[in-house]
Formats: sequence, structure tokens, C-alpha cells
Amino acid sequence: MLPGLLAYSRQKGKMHYTVSVEMADTPYFHVKLEASGFAGDSLLFKLPAWTPGYYQLMHYADQVRHFDAKDAHGNALQWKRKGDNGWMIYGGKKMPFVLEYDVRSTRPFVAANYADKERAYISPAGMFMYPDGHIRRPVSISVRPAEGWTVVESGMDRTKGVFRAPDFDILYDSPILMGKLEELPAFTVKGIWHRFVAYRAGDFDRAQFMADLQKIVQTASGIIGDIPYQHYTFLAIGPGGGGIEHLNSAAVAFSGDGLHTREGKIRIYNFLAHEYFHHYNVKRIRPVELGPFDYDHGSKTRLLWVSEGFTVYYEYLILKRAGLTTAEDVFKALKANILAYESKPGKLVQSAAAASYETWSDGPFGRSGEAGKQTISYYDKGPVLGALLDFRIRHETKNRYSLDDVMRTLYREYYQKAGRGFTEQEFRAVCEKTAGTSLAECFDYANTVRAIDYKKYFAYAGLDIDEQFNIRPVAQPNSLQAAILKDWLK
Ligand SMILES: [Zn+2]
Repeated sequence: MLPGLLAYSRQKGKMHYTVSVEMADTPYFHVKLEASGFAGDSLLFKLPAWTPGYYQLMHYADQVRHFDAKDAHGNALQWKRKGDNGWMIYGGKKMPFVLEYDVRSTRPFVAANYADKERAYISPAGMFMYPDGHIRRPVSISVRPAEGWTVVESGMDRTKGVFRAPDFDILYDSPILMGKLEELPAFTVKGIWHRFVAYRAGDFDRAQFMADLQKIVQTASGIIGDIPYQHYTFLAIGPGGGGIEHLNSAAVAFSGDGLHTREGKIRIYNFLAHEYFHHYNVKRIRPVELGPFDYDHGSKTRLLWVSEGFTVYYEYLILKRAGLTTAEDVFKALKANILAYESKPGKLVQSAAAASYETWSDGPFGRSGEAGKQTISYYDKGPVLGALLDFRIRHETKNRYSLDDVMRTLYREYYQKAGRGFTEQEFRAVCEKTAGTSLAECFDYANTVRAIDYKKYFAYAGLDIDEQFNIRPVAQPNSLQAAILKDWLK
């Protein structure tokens, strides 16, 4: 996938960023770009308005201060703002030039840039401007942490202290964490290193935690059967909420203090399994709209119920199959999703596909207050739809195939062979081909507000579900039901 240094060295021009953390009353970032090899008298630089993985406009350009452009001799170049997130540079035809600007620290969150006296986190889409029309250019980054900070981490490849990305999409997919960090004992899966680097990790048994995380990675990667990266890093940015998945890293809010109770442990493990499984489902197994990205306006898709919802569903299966939870835990988790969905008045108004598409205006979990009566969350309905599809495919194929086969087929046919995402029609076609029959009812549940016949679908897996959505195995399953239930939670 990555062209690497050879392609980089063949290019005549270069783009090298140096970003430093500047201590002040409020710490901030200073960014310097040294660039050359561009033709033309003007060049437009842009800062994305959002970052892939967090489907909300962040308007990063609003945090830029003290923009300045100079030629190679230090003479000022003319520039002017263009649109909400553009800076047009004039002059310096075919000459090297330098851009400098500051980026404000906002809040400690995985989709924001933040620095304080102990650590800094860079959400690269909000830090590094790209030259319009040249997003495929390779770029290198030097990071200057504050004094006394020893560790700078990212999923990006690094040689002699310089991070390198083959293009800006990879750069934007590679957050950077630095500061007074701790590295937990790393592990390998199929010979590939997985690391966990944390700021203020808390008080917990590190060895046990990493052994459990290894089981999660083993189980999750075993579902797809291929590990597509050379190394993987969990970047734990400190206590808080939220996480964002990347191709070979995940940025997560994390505190191991929560691992002391069983509920806390399951919650944290579910969350880490979710972010990890996303490197398949959404980063590689993805709707066609999610890449190349529209960095100006956001990339709308009707399939977040698959990309987010199925990733929630797989959290439950991964933990159970890894031996970290029980069948009862899976039943409880699905009940909670069904209950959350069924108790929303919006279930009569908004489909899961519409909730996916409207997330840019509705927010990640639907609207709140009175307007919330018009919306649902694909984080609630998506995992339920995943379970229904899984049960139906297993039932129709006498348990020869499952949703796992759908995910593997999508990975193979669209990510590995075609090198692109899939359309809604292609996704449905893979599901129906795997099931060997029409899945019109399941897709009605996704695309309309049609009431769900839970009893029928859960019965496929030998499960009964009551009026309060309590789920339990039926007393006398037939042989197919018994086989499906056993294999589903193996
Ligand atoms: Zn997610």
C-alpha cells in the first residue's frame, strides 16, 4: 500500500513540516512548512474542516493564528484568505517557500489539538495544511516536543526521528501523541507488534490488561483472517471519553482506573475492541463515500449503521469469543441496544440509513431535547441490525455462513481486489449472495421505520426475547437452532 521512500525520493519537490509545542499561559502549536517543487504563480493551501472517523464539522481553520508566507530568501509572499478554510499564496513560482502559523490548543479530545504542561495530542487534519490539488504528495514531519518530554508516538513510519507519510490522507489518519508517556508491555499477534502508549494510564495490572488486549486483537483479526499493517499502536491520550480509529493506530481516551470492576472492565474492553475492529470495518471494509474524503464539507454515507453499528455488534462477539465475557453479557448488551432504540419516538420517523446520512447535522447520537423525537442513533439500531442479519444468514444457510463471511467477502472483494469502498447496492448484494436468498425484510428494517419482528429473528438462533427484550435460550432448541447458538458465541 505505502509507496515509501523510493517514491518520495523520486519527487523533485518536497514538503516538510516542523511542529513544535510552545509553552505559554495557554500552550499552543507552532507549525512551519518548507515546500518546493510547485509550478504556477499561486497555490491554495487548505485545512480540512473535519477528521475522518468523527463525522462532525470541526472547523479547524478557526484555530489558526499568525499565518505568514515567505520565499526562500525570506521575502514576504502575498497571500489572502479564501473561503472558510483556505489560504492562497502568490508569487514564488517554482521557488522554495516557507509557511508558518500557530494552531490553538482547544480541548483534550481525540478529534482536537491539545497541549498542556505534560502532554500534547495532534489531530493532524486540524494541524497540517495541504496544497489543493496535491493531496497525493508525500510529506514528512518533524516534531519538537516541549522540554523534558521524551516520547513522541504515531502510527506513521519514522526514520531518524522524522515521520513520513506517502500522502496527506495517511498523514490525516496518523494522530501524534507526545509528552510524559508510559509504554505498556507490547505483544505480537502473528509476529506483528502491537503497542499501547498512554498518558496518565491510572492504577491497574498492566500485564493482565495487555494479555487481555492481546486476546482481543487475536480474536478480532481472526474473524477477517488477515492483518494488513506492519505495526499497530493504541494512543491513550488520558482520561475522558471518545476514540477514533485509524489504519494502524487508534486514539482513545483511557484510564485503567476503571478496570477494577467487572462492568468497568467490560466497558473498556468493548471500547478498545470497537476501535480496533474499525481498522477493518470502516477503514478498509468501507462505504464508497468514505474515501477519497471531502475534507471541505464532510463525506455523507447512508451506511454508518454498518460501519459503526456492526462494529458495536462485533465488540460483543469479540469479547465473548476471546473468553472475556459470557453469553449472558452478550444478551444484556443487545437488550440495552434494543431498549435504547425502541424507547425513542424517533424510531417512527428516522431510519438507520437516514440517521447515518444526517449525522452531520443531527450529531453522533441523534438530536437531543424536543428535536430528539425525530431522530434515532445508529449506535443503538446498527448492532441490532447486525444481529438480525447474522441470525438470518445462519438460518438460511443451515449455519454454513454468517455475517463473518459477509465481512470477509467485503474485505477481499472491495478492499483487497478492487481497492475501493462498496455502494449500498453492492453491500446488499454481498449479504444476499451469502444468504442465498432475498433479505428484503432486513433491509427494510435498515432503510425504513418498519417495526422489527424480534421474536422471529432471535428464534433463528435458538433464543427467546420477551416484551422487556430479555433474551434467553429457548428450552428445547431444534438441532439447527442449537448449532447456530453454539457457533455464534463460540
Ligand atoms: Zn466507532
